Amino acid sequence: MPRRCTVCDDPQRHSIDEALVDGAPYRSVAKRFGLSESAVYRHKTKHLPAQLLKAKEVEEVAQADDLLEQVRDLQGHALGILERAEKAGDLRTALAAISQARGNLELLGKLAGELDERPVVNLNVSPEWLELRAVIVGALEPHPAAHSAVLRALESAGDG
Ligand SMILES: [Zn+2]
Repeated sequence: MPRRCTVCDDPQRHSIDEALVDGAPYRSVAKRFGLSESAVYRHKTKHLPAQLLKAKEVEEVAQADDLLEQVRDLQGHALGILERAEKAGDLRTALAAISQARGNLELLGKLAGELDERPVVNLNVSPEWLELRAVIVGALEPHPAAHSAVLRALESAGDG
């Protein structure tokens, strides 16, 4: 039968785990909670599920960032097509491109909202997002219908 872990059995386990996840050195955690250093070290390396949770969170943010990158890429294409279609006087294609661009923006807004709830990344203050938003809105200025549709989408994304 394996030895019991004094840290897992400790009534203050939650606070101990929190300190360890925050990155406190196991020696100082041991001192603070009156535990042996080796027990805290073993607990930290073998038993700390919160550490796994944190790793998972980081991974999810990375995936969301990747998705964001792809949507931005799509948005670039949609705006390029809009530009060309307008120059060619192809209004049907221009409208389709506007509709795509609008969908991309809604997706960006949703992604921004999701990321906003995470501790690691706050898109609403991310310089990249603010820059992207300015670029999109600026690029659509010659197209009043698209411009106002996009502004509406951005505002509703900000509310949500
Ligand atoms: Zn333990």
